[in-house]
Amino acid sequence: MNWHGKPYYSLDAWCKNTLHHKCYKIALNAHMTCPNRDGSIGSRGCIFCSAGGSGEFAVSTAGKPVAEQLSEGEKLLSEKVVLLKDRPCIIAYFQAYTNTYAPLEYLEQIFSQALSSPRVCGISIATRPDCLPQEVLSLLSRLKGVYPEKFIWVELGLQTIHDATARFIRRGYGLDCFEEAFCRLGDLDIPVIVHTILGLPGETRGQMLETVSYLDRLRPFGVKLQLLHVLRGTDLAQCYARGEFKVLEKAEYLELVADCLERLSPEIVIHRVTGDGPKDILAAPLWSMDKRSVLNGLHQTLQRRGSIQGCRSPKTGQIP
Ligand code: SF4
Repeated sequence: MNWHGKPYYSLDAWCKNTLHHKCYKIALNAHMTCPNRDGSIGSRGCIFCSAGGSGEFAVSTAGKPVAEQLSEGEKLLSEKVVLLKDRPCIIAYFQAYTNTYAPLEYLEQIFSQALSSPRVCGISIATRPDCLPQEVLSLLSRLKGVYPEKFIWVELGLQTIHDATARFIRRGYGLDCFEEAFCRLGDLDIPVIVHTILGLPGETRGQMLETVSYLDRLRPFGVKLQLLHVLRGTDLAQCYARGEFKVLEKAEYLELVADCLERLSPEIVIHRVTGDGPKDILAAPLWSMDKRSVLNGLHQTLQRRGSIQGCRSPKTGQIP
């Protein structure tokens, strides 16, 4: 497997290996809400979630249609990078809030808008495992048939396998719910990307690695390793201000991500190894704003250890 010079199988490497070119994500805000915010499950959301529903990177929150957000995003992107003219190289990322929590007709409309764009190679839908009823799964399966040359991924925010932490962060569903959604998506051959958060209050290194080893056994298509960000205006920020927990130091985080990567099988695509928190409302840890330095630090850490992704995964690893 070609990892294109990285010590782990990044999304960038997957795109180059599978589609034979680089791809770029455009984050979208499809004007959803979330059952953990609208009162169905809870009204205060997950403890770390910002008012923007973890979707501050979406190009527009001003009620613009998905197609318009995509073309705006593409325009912004093309100011920074050279986009391929002749091939679809955009991943439409439905990021803000819970992107399967809306009437079916609306979901069909927004997903079709993105999939039908000649610039889009696939869509990635962030949602909760308790928001994937049969009719939504059937819709995704049908869209796969309508757009066979494009991909449809689902991103599930697991964050942790530990019940006590899940209760503390007010996740609002149990591990069994996640497992059921994961299996049903697998039955439909829809690749799943699982989000985890490193540094949640009260979790030990051992517990975080238990979550990662669980994912290694589960073998999702992809994993996101997200550093816990404390965002201003969240309940988590109040706990932090009261001194109830500490955020991870940079050196500690780098060692932890290396530990995680070593335990994840080499075939799992790593979609994120840092935090992508919005800088304007980030309260801590501020070192995470320098993403390049975090990525360079991770390379150096793995290099020093002489290790790569999967070297400690029981099925595939050979501990160096
Ligand atoms: S499920 Fe997602 S959008 Fe909903 S409160 Fe939690 S983090 Fe925010």
